[in-house]
Formats: sequence, structure tokens, C-alpha cells
Amino acid sequence: MSIDGRTQILILGGGFGGLYAAMHLEKRLARDPNVEVTLVNRDNFFLFTPMLHEVAASDLDLTHIVNPVHKLLRRVNFFAGDVEAIDLPSRRVVVSHGFDHHHHDMPYDHLVIALGSITNFFNLPGLQERALTMKSLGDAITLRNRLIALLEEANSECCANIREPLLTFVVAGGGFAGVETIAAVNDFVRDALKFYPNCHEQHLRMVLVHPGPVILPELGEKLGTYAQKKLAERKVDIRVNTRVTGISDRGVELNDGTIVTGNTLVWTAGTSPNPLLETLPCQKERGRLLVNEYLEVPEWPGLWALGDCAVVPDRKTGKAYPPTAQHALREGKTLAHNLTAAVQGGAKKPFVFDTIGQLAAIGRRTGVANIMGINFSGFIAWWLWRTIYLGKLPRFEKKLRVALDWTLDLLFSKDIVQFMTFHAPTISHAENDERSAKQAAGENVTTASR
Ligand SMILES: Cc1cc2nc3c(=O)[nH]c(=O)nc-3n(C[C@H](O)[C@H](O)[C@H](O)COP(=O)(O)OP(=O)(O)OC[C@H]3O[C@@H](n4cnc5c(N)ncnc54)[C@H](O)[C@@H]3O)c2cc1C
Repeated sequence: MSIDGRTQILILGGGFGGLYAAMHLEKRLARDPNVEVTLVNRDNFFLFTPMLHEVAASDLDLTHIVNPVHKLLRRVNFFAGDVEAIDLPSRRVVVSHGFDHHHHDMPYDHLVIALGSITNFFNLPGLQERALTMKSLGDAITLRNRLIALLEEANSECCANIREPLLTFVVAGGGFAGVETIAAVNDFVRDALKFYPNCHEQHLRMVLVHPGPVILPELGEKLGTYAQKKLAERKVDIRVNTRVTGISDRGVELNDGTIVTGNTLVWTAGTSPNPLLETLPCQKERGRLLVNEYLEVPEWPGLWALGDCAVVPDRKTGKAYPPTAQHALREGKTLAHNLTAAVQGGAKKPFVFDTIGQLAAIGRRTGVANIMGINFSGFIAWWLWRTIYLGKLPRFEKKLRVALDWTLDLLFSKDIVQFMTFHAPTISHAENDERSAKQAAGENVTTASR
């Protein structure tokens, strides 16, 4: 409890699990004057990951798929910071923030862990230094900038001999993130070629590397095969039963001995639980926290976990629920109910959810989807993808902005402006001193003044 005697609830992570738990606690518990709820997240926004590839491929403006947490939560406190350490025995969390990364010690009565997962390169040579990832908003912006920078470079006369390697893009991983990324990148780069007179279709090479026999294994063989056929028609080279083994100056290395000459590798083929979980003395499965059906960590009263960092048991199958956004956000609702019951009294309810469906956009207004056991493919699946995810995107303002982006996309070509973050040039001390010296010597020096 805090000094003022209020029950402290701390939520770590503002992704699908943590944010939705906070939004439901806002309705149930945050009005209670004896309770204080605080959400801690690295970014001050909630990222809608299913649309991330659309930012990388310039379909959507970069701010349209994120929502500021302050606009989503009114009663729940928000703390923008990095969780540095979790001390379960003394019920405290250390969070750093600010330009100097100073530390705060945050006590709690109930702790909700929703820290998600991180990318794992499995120590493959060169990946840590050279591969791009697709997990955060920064990743999508970086990929978009890289694509445009490579087009600019390949278009210059001095690069005439290296156009092919510059315009070779490899994506590792044939799951949802990998397939949607290669499809979006393929459409974007091919559409952009008309603005780069020295770059042509024959210079482009798009490669998708997948370790299994068919891409999109979660959707079944039929839809996976359909997606492969459509991508191959659009000149994506799909390498199934193949793995990336490294990246070097020579190119992207594959386990069949092939080297794809090119420097752009997007890695979507592996994740690991958040490393902070390693420090916790709790039961885990492959690094994820084992929780019961109420989303409690049984051996630590007051400790809860959900989303990608938790193993949530499915009573029907005896297995764990898959780590997806649709599960994490519903776990957030159940967790908020159970936490309210733990604080105010009442019956807890187990987490039970039947996966509604899974969808993937595979480019050029085509998609694949399995909804309630029924397969959809082509335009209808793509339309379902857009309609369902637009409905899920939080806040009307963002829905409207995304819908407008998509509508304008029918009239205009995709934007190829790079988002640069460096300063405009300034005059250095040395240059100023030199100018002063010249002026003192009576030389004519022009200085712009306001
Ligand atoms: C490109 C991509 C596309 C996807 N598409 C789909 C899809 O179409 N459908 C679907 O169901 N799922 C999809 N997913 C999966 C889905 O995004 C995850 O399952 C879901 O986000 C898990 O929710 P979570 O709350 O557990 O973790 P996350 O949403 O990852 O949230 C974790 C949060 O914790 C924060 N955090 C982590 N460490 C710290 C720290 N030390 N300090 C402070 N904050 C921290 C992170 O910044 C993040 O905000 C996709 C994922 C990706 C990457």
C-alpha cells in the first residue's frame, strides 16, 4: 500500500494485454478512491501491430496506427519509462525515465506483467548488426526509410553496376508478420519504380525464406498454398524448407548453401519472452510465466501476467492459448475482472476464448482468412482484413484517419518522402570564429539575419 493507504496496482507494459487490462480497470476499479492504478510503458502510445506493415509500405501515415495513452486512459495514471527491475519479495519495481534515465522505486500490492516479447536472432552471424526487425513503430519507419534510400541510391548513375544487390530484399519468416511485410514491401517498391527512371523491374528481387513446407502455417495448407501462388505471381521468390543462417558482406546466407546477394534482411523468424522475466523466481515454460486460468501466478499472491509473456492454459485443449493480439486483449478484460474481484470481493472467472479467426493481407487488394472455420481468399479476405482491423483500432479519430488514408490511396500513388530525424545544418563554433576573424580583418562576409 502507498503512504496514503490506497491499494496500489501496477501494470507493466502498455501493449494489447496491459493497455486493455488498464482500460477495463479504468471502468471497474479506478473510480474507487481507495485504489490507485498505474500503467508503465516505454512509449507514450499504444501500437496497433496488425497494421505495422502498412506504415513500412507507406500505405498509412506513421502516427495513424498509434494512440497516445493519455487519450485512452483518464483515471488510470500513466508513467512513461523503462522497467529496469522487478523485486517480487519486497513488492517493488524500479523504473527509469527522463533524459538522464533517473530511477524511481514503485511499490505495489498487485503487479500485472504484460511486457510482451522481443526479437531473437538466435546468435546467427551478422544479424544483430545488420538485420532489420518488424516489431515497433521505429522498425516500420526504419524499413520504409531504408527502402526509399535504396531506391535513391540505385537510381544514381554511379550505382549502375550494383542496382540488383541494392534492390534485393529478403524477409525471413513465413508467418503473419513476414508474409504481410514482403507483400507490402513488394507492392511499395514496384509502385515506386516509376519515379526512378534508372531502376527497372529486372533489377528487383524479393525473397521470402520460410523454414516450413508452406507459408502461413496457422491458416492451414490450402490458404498457405494460395498465398504462395499469389505472391509468386507478383514475382516474390518463395524459399520454403529453408532457413537464413547469417548475413555478411557477401549477402544473405541460406542453409542450402545459397547466398542471396543483397544487404537488406528483415527478420521476423524468432521471438523470445521479455528478458526481465529471466530475473523472476517463478515457474516458467520456455521463459514465459506460467499462470492459472484466472491469469494469476499461483505461487506469488498479487502477481498477474498475460499476453505474449504468459502461458495461459486453455481448459478445452489442455494446451496454452496462442500469443496473439486477439487473445491478449481479451485476457486483459478477464484479468481486470479478476483483479477487481481480488480487491473488492466477488467471484473470479476463468479465461475462456475461442479464436474467432485469423487474417493476413498479401498485397494488391488480396488476402487470406479463416473465420470461424471458414476459409476466405482474394478480394473478400482482403476486405474482411481491412474491415475487421479498422473496427479493432482504438478511437474514432484514428479509425477516420486510417479510412481516409486508404481512400486517398485509390487516387494517389504512395508517398516516397523519407522521415529524417537529423538537424538542419548549423554554423559551428569554428566557422563562426573564422567569420568573425574575417570581419575584423575587413573582409566582406555575408551573414543572414532575422
Ligand atoms: C508485425 C506484427 C504483426 C502482428 N499482427 C498480428 C495480427 O494481425 N493479429 C494478431 O492477433 N496478432 C498480431 N501480432 C501479434 C500481437 O502484436 C501480439 O501477440 C500482442 O501485441 C501481444 O500483446 P502483449 O501485450 O503481450 O505484448 P505487446 O503488445 O508487445 O506489449 C508489450 C509492451 O511492453 C512494453 N515494454 C516492453 N519492455 C518494457 C520495459 N522494460 N519497460 C517498459 N515497457 C516495456 C513494450 O513497449 C510494449 O508496449 C503481430 C505482431 C507483430 C510484431
